[in-house]
Amino acid sequence: MENRVQSHRFTTTQQERGLPVLGIHVMTELEYCPRAGVVAYGEGRDDPGEDPPVENLDYLPLYDLSEINRELNQRCPVVYRWLVLAAAVIVLTLILTLLVRWYFIFCGAIGLVVVIAALIDLIPPIITLVRCRANAMSAQPRTPDPDSPEDEVVNWWEMRRSGFEIGAYKEALFDAELGLKGKPWKILRDYDVVIPVFKRNSSKPLHRQDYARIAAYCQLIERCEGVTSPYGLVLQAGTHRAIAIKHTAAAQETLRVVLEQARSIIRDMVTSGQDPLPPHSTGLCRNCPIGYPRVYRPGETELISNKQQLPIVPAYQTVRGVFHSKCGDRFRWVPRHARVERRTTPQRR
Ligand code: SF4
Repeated sequence: MENRVQSHRFTTTQQERGLPVLGIHVMTELEYCPRAGVVAYGEGRDDPGEDPPVENLDYLPLYDLSEINRELNQRCPVVYRWLVLAAAVIVLTLILTLLVRWYFIFCGAIGLVVVIAALIDLIPPIITLVRCRANAMSAQPRTPDPDSPEDEVVNWWEMRRSGFEIGAYKEALFDAELGLKGKPWKILRDYDVVIPVFKRNSSKPLHRQDYARIAAYCQLIERCEGVTSPYGLVLQAGTHRAIAIKHTAAAQETLRVVLEQARSIIRDMVTSGQDPLPPHSTGLCRNCPIGYPRVYRPGETELISNKQQLPIVPAYQTVRGVFHSKCGDRFRWVPRHARVERRTTPQRR
């Protein structure tokens, strides 16, 4: 799906005012922690519209019935072939054991172990897909109440059964006046109603950055496409549970405040040449993905910031090698991530 306003990219109102154009991902990171936002700003990556995939089953198509059916049609014959092989192994083992030598039973047992190991790998994804299909078929049509400003829990399949078709934007949406660009993970479309979907890993309560994100998607969609976007969905990854956040005047105000704060952090950093300070509460760093230490692999794990590869700042060392983090490398320090604390705090006897 092409973005109709891509051509406006270089004649933007915000750019003319000397304000940076922000990606939605950068804006929400700046709201979470100024340093996280600066790292995202320096990386210059497009908004992915979802949290980084972590679930083992994230590779499965859990959200589109035709893709689920296609995947099942590909996977089931493989299982059938292994079952036929298992039956052949059992029959052959019985024949050889009874008619030739008793110890052929061990050969048969080895063959069965191989088949069972293959089936253990193959069957769980199929069970997941079959459950998904059953849920999709049994769901009743239901959509959030458009007149209520409150968040509502909705089910993905209930939305799909209500007539919404799944889609995705190829390119980021961009609005010159907002000075904002980004695209949701998916959209649900029913004629001139378009619902953006953000896929989130956490099941914890939503934060202000989540509300700002959904308001931003809704506004971009309405401005770029000229359609209605009355709410957006925050979908919990690996499930079909979503929270519908309404696109109200309060949501727009939240977006305005978050965007203004985000811009002022970037502007202050550029004009003063000073990096933002770490958050007052070290609790934020304890579980922060930007401060998460990873094993150093030269040429692969270094942070690229403003098109430059930064040298690493080691957090600690184990037999696996030296560990470093994006935040540590960008701001030349060692964030107090829970993993760092576990490694560097002396153990009490
Ligand atoms: S590690 Fe701490 S300072 Fe760094 S981005 Fe995360 S929360 Fe911010």
